[in-house]
Amino acid sequence: MSKRSGVIPDMAKQRPETTSMLSQQDRELIDAACEAIRKRYRHDWQEVGAALRSRSGRIFTGVNLDAYLGRMAVCAEAVALGRAIVDLGEAGIDTIVAVRHPPPNEEDQAISVVSPCGSCRELIWDYDRDARVIVPGADGPAVATIGELLPNKYSRE
Ligand SMILES: [Zn+2]
Repeated sequence: MSKRSGVIPDMAKQRPETTSMLSQQDRELIDAACEAIRKRYRHDWQEVGAALRSRSGRIFTGVNLDAYLGRMAVCAEAVALGRAIVDLGEAGIDTIVAVRHPPPNEEDQAISVVSPCGSCRELIWDYDRDARVIVPGADGPAVATIGELLPNKYSRE
């Protein structure tokens, strides 16, 4: 997500149909993403945190890099994936989650799980077609597969 998040439609209207319950490890991943953005939150620059569990079980976190030149902005999920690849090489994505920190004027709101943007869905699929993604659900965070979140993926063929 970017600083233009104010124009993004309500995610509650876009929830996937197929989701499953969270495991204890999923909850730990959400906590790691929340901790990352709580620590590095900077209004209009770093507002989204992400956490990725590699297939080897290690957790990598990231925060979004917003930019004055908008197209240079990088999502938190991509930063987390980059850190995993630097440390482990191609390690696969078991599960990934992103969370958004509320702006200063909405301090009564909690940090909450957000769905990955379309570009991140493509990225996650490219690096692990079986990745699990924690997304907002009807009764709190839930798990979907990247395939469920990205039907008819872009292909050059
Ligand atoms: Zn994204």
